[in-house]
Amino acid sequence: MRKKPAYEGFELGPIRPPSEAYSLLLRINRGCGWNKCRFCGFYRDVPFAIRSAEDVKKDIDRIKYWVDVFQGNIEDASNPATPGEQEACYSAYNWIQSGMKSVFFQDGNSILMPPDEMIEVLEYLNQTFPNIQRITSYARSDTINRLKPEYLRRYAELGLNRFHIGLETGNDYILKLMKKGTTKQAQIEAGIKAKAAGIEINEFYMPGMGGREYARASALDTADVMNQVNPDFIRIRSMALAEKLEMYEDYRTGLLTRPNDIETIHEIRLFIENLHGITSVVDSDHILNILLELRGKLPEAKPRLLAIIDQFLDLPEDTQNIYRLGRRLNVMNALRDLNNPILVDRVKQTMDKAGIDKTNIDDVCDQLMIRCIPI
Ligand code: SF4
Repeated sequence: MRKKPAYEGFELGPIRPPSEAYSLLLRINRGCGWNKCRFCGFYRDVPFAIRSAEDVKKDIDRIKYWVDVFQGNIEDASNPATPGEQEACYSAYNWIQSGMKSVFFQDGNSILMPPDEMIEVLEYLNQTFPNIQRITSYARSDTINRLKPEYLRRYAELGLNRFHIGLETGNDYILKLMKKGTTKQAQIEAGIKAKAAGIEINEFYMPGMGGREYARASALDTADVMNQVNPDFIRIRSMALAEKLEMYEDYRTGLLTRPNDIETIHEIRLFIENLHGITSVVDSDHILNILLELRGKLPEAKPRLLAIIDQFLDLPEDTQNIYRLGRRLNVMNALRDLNNPILVDRVKQTMDKAGIDKTNIDDVCDQLMIRCIPI
């Protein structure tokens, strides 16, 4: 039995999915209970702990207090004195601004919390804030598979109605190489099981993770998982390769070769081309992606998504490089920005000043991508 830490005030974890930008963040776990994936460095230095339901309920109380202050129900509030109390105050303020509709449970895989405690937290959250419409969490496939269906159904009834699952790839060789701790089949079973319990599924796909060598297999195996699960959402998050990550070793030794942006887009094209018979919403809302405009509901959006990709792939190499750098510098956000002469000039000037051309653009883009990941 893991020792539960003492209450140390309101806590925030380090990350959330981009789609949870407007959610209240409530920390259920510290760190990740698995913490072995070789492509992930988010929680390497965070000692894992499951917080108690009692402590999470105290966090909910702190949010309720500050919501009441901002809504004028408490008049004599003093300034927040501790870092935790400041976080609670800012969190409550931001949550009010976004309508107080959704909550995201941090850190990795919060469903490791014992089910009776999770139910206690969910009941208390609903009782404190009866108008919440959506509660979501990261969830590992293997943990979903171990949970009894009746618990998943109860979670869904209590509003925990979306899991963000880091599928990454459906290719068993790459899953094993990256120590993801699951298999293609387990990922399929978890997705189907959660959906059957009434929980929406958002599957993250990481193009590029299998290097050039496994790009094709990864695209096809991942599409096969999606086709069997029919997740509500498919989100693309391109791989960033930092030297600090354990998987860097595979690229250093030559086991895998780093694909550049163009090759990654080819992998994404193959993946989308092979999505069949599903109704998922595809989204590319992560800062690491080149084509953020890949967004739409299948099956009707598929031809449009492929056309966007082809539009990029058909560009002359020099124009592709301007767009790649424009994206990595966050100067450009969509292919239409190539029609904006001011933005194009800005990128060209940067290229001239920094000596960036087709011989070094891959390395420059890699370095700029690494700046976007909190490791
Ligand atoms: S990818 Fe997810 S499961 Fe793997 S170590 Fe990172 S947080 Fe944990």
